[in-house]
Amino acid sequence: MKGSCQCGAVRYEVTGKVDHVSHCHCSMCRKLQGALFVSFGGVARDDLKVEGRESLREYRSSDAISRRFCATCGGHVFAETPEDGDTVFLCLGSLDQGEAPDHDPASERHIFWESRARWHDPGDGAERVEGFGET
Ligand SMILES: [Zn+2]
Ligand SMILES: [Zn+2]
Repeated sequence: MKGSCQCGAVRYEVTGKVDHVSHCHCSMCRKLQGALFVSFGGVARDDLKVEGRESLREYRSSDAISRRFCATCGGHVFAETPEDGDTVFLCLGSLDQGEAPDHDPASERHIFWESRARWHDPGDGAERVEGFGET
């Protein structure tokens, strides 16, 4: 799977499977993306190859998470824990072809459902949980 920011300065390739998909409705994601929610796929750090890292900027939206954006176009490409944990949370809307990632559809969840924009219902069958839910 290949993806990039909107201007193409940051490009990436994922070689492994996405281990879960979370559609995040938290207010930080909504504000950062200017979107109703952000869909993330958890990938192993070792499975993600990034080109154009010099164009990435970091924004720590909370103590728990660092966002990586393209300095030129502002595209949110992925998020990770500040201590560079084993999992990187890829913004799935940045995949080049809009394709479904290699994942188990049963793993999809709407997280931070309590913070959602109230006027829109995604209308899918994915589980909806408060916060990260219990896993
Ligand atoms: Zn860009
Ligand atoms: Zn969020």
